[in-house]
Amino acid sequence: MADIIQLLPDHVANQIAAGEVVQRPASVVKELLENAIDAQATTIKLLIKDAGKTLVQVIDNGVGMSVTDARLSFERHATSKIRNAEDLFQLHTKGFRGEALASIAAIAHVELKSKQEADDVGTEIVIEGSEVKSQEVVVTPKGTSIAVKNLFFNIPARRNFLKSNPVELRHVIDEFHRVALAHPNITFVMYHNGSEVFNLPESNYRQRIVNIFGNKTNEKLVPVTEETEVLKVSGFVGKPEFAKKTRGEQFFFVNNRFIKSAYLNHAINSAFDGLLKDGTHASYFLNLEVDPQSIDINIHPTKTEIKFDDEQTLYAILRASVKHSLGQFSIAPVLDFERDSNLDTPYNYKDREAAFPKVEVDATFNPFQEEKVSGKANRTAYKKEPSSSWESLYVGLESKGTHSQQVFSEVQFESEEQTGDIFEDVKQAETSHSTYQIHNKYIVSNIKSGIMLIDQHRAHQRVLYEDLLKHITIKESVSQQLLFPVELFFSNEEVVILQSIQEDLEHTGFVFSNFGKDSIEITGVPINVPASEVSVVLEQLIVDIQNEIPDSHFSAADMLAKSMAKSLAIKTGQSLTAIEQEHLVNSLFGCKEPNVSPTNKPTFITLTVDELDRKFI
Ligand code: ADP
Ligand code: MG
Repeated sequence: MADIIQLLPDHVANQIAAGEVVQRPASVVKELLENAIDAQATTIKLLIKDAGKTLVQVIDNGVGMSVTDARLSFERHATSKIRNAEDLFQLHTKGFRGEALASIAAIAHVELKSKQEADDVGTEIVIEGSEVKSQEVVVTPKGTSIAVKNLFFNIPARRNFLKSNPVELRHVIDEFHRVALAHPNITFVMYHNGSEVFNLPESNYRQRIVNIFGNKTNEKLVPVTEETEVLKVSGFVGKPEFAKKTRGEQFFFVNNRFIKSAYLNHAINSAFDGLLKDGTHASYFLNLEVDPQSIDINIHPTKTEIKFDDEQTLYAILRASVKHSLGQFSIAPVLDFERDSNLDTPYNYKDREAAFPKVEVDATFNPFQEEKVSGKANRTAYKKEPSSSWESLYVGLESKGTHSQQVFSEVQFESEEQTGDIFEDVKQAETSHSTYQIHNKYIVSNIKSGIMLIDQHRAHQRVLYEDLLKHITIKESVSQQLLFPVELFFSNEEVVILQSIQEDLEHTGFVFSNFGKDSIEITGVPINVPASEVSVVLEQLIVDIQNEIPDSHFSAADMLAKSMAKSLAIKTGQSLTAIEQEHLVNSLFGCKEPNVSPTNKPTFITLTVDELDRKFI
């Protein structure tokens, strides 16, 4: 049989390599920024068009390239940064593989201009799909400019695989943040579609963080410093009381290179142990300096993962130094998480004048009335009060018997926990729909065929979701005017996100009076959002959008409703009065789809008398 093995032509090999190096426009941003840093630039400009799909350009004032180097830089495995394998263990540069430019040139239209200080003129090279189209002498300032246009022009499948512009732009900004944070001594400017997004002058580390994440960040930072033989730690952690629901602001840099490490992240979390509220994440901006010989950054092609020789020691040092800083700035004793958060004064209310307290009297209250009202339900969220004959509504919605049985057997009745008057419950059972709350989580209710268990959090989410969605889609908003405008602080990127869904937010009842660079001002809120909850609701919304940016208008509204319903729904662990329980059940069965939560999880299960009987055999 004839020989069948062939060497792949260079341009094919480059395209294959590009698959590893370039996943999206943000990968190009990372490679070009890193090359500029390796070239000792002090000012770096990043220009982006259409989230990088049409253009990613990086202009630096670094050392530039000679004519030959400019041409060679596009060859695969062409690098000025290492000469032999040993150099890999003494790396002081970002790049070393010599693959980035070759890969990028294989899948885009690339224009390079470069000039070295000593030369009078520079070189311009145009390459399309690995093919050199032209090479000329040009007048250009010292340094290098590389423009990467029409990414994946020759691989439509990859191009189609790219996400929407907001998603791709977020990846680009993430990369930009990482590089800019690792090098506060370099000036960075970023433009998107012609407008300036970031202007970060050369500064110290703290100022760089503040310039990126907004002025309000300054007061939230606690410095961390530690120097041992194996590790030098410097940087900041966020004060626990400002911890966010987003994981966003978590940065480790090892020898000025951004890395991801679940293990080291764990070290930080354990240093914060007991200081964070549930569901919030510590923010940190930490630089670790280690001997380059003790790490291996070669294990991942995009180099965000790293292998340390002695991980356990690093873990221990990191944990101890963060703990020490938190303690030194006497953060730990000030916090008291046991207190009722309802009693907190939101910080934006601090300087307001006190108002006269209002007394509300229910003139219709009659203590001798038949129906027993044990606690006045003040939950405005239960606006709908459909007929109480909801039992008939769920018929046919019952979940599969086996499933419900399984779920049910996990629920334990602990009657000892009920310390109240047991006869009280019996009396309530007689007068109401015999609802009963267990573990402040489920509502048990009698139905004709047996009993029903309702998950209070999910049920309320469903009720709020349908209500919010209705307001957004029919564009009929109900808003409560705030006495004083509330100013909330976000990062620049977060403000942009909120602005992009401003219209939908307004249909839920929000009224915005200003969108600043890192803050927004609100003068009205939806009626079912307490003013003190506004920042929590918006923060959660930003997290949800960042995790799943909707492409169509419909899904934007849908996600907004889902996110707000999730934030506002009564939580597991919240005790409900009999009347609140009944309202919730009634509202649930007034919904279009009462049997599932907005995220498609069951809101209730049923257990028939037959099934109960079988359990007693
Ligand atoms: P690597 O960075 O791994 O060496 P690249 O493909 O990214 O590989 O770059 C190849 C070579 O091109 C670099 O080693 C460097 O010599 C040169 N080069 C790339 N970008 C620049 C730049 N902005 N300024 C000066 N030289 C550059
Ligand atoms: Mg490189």
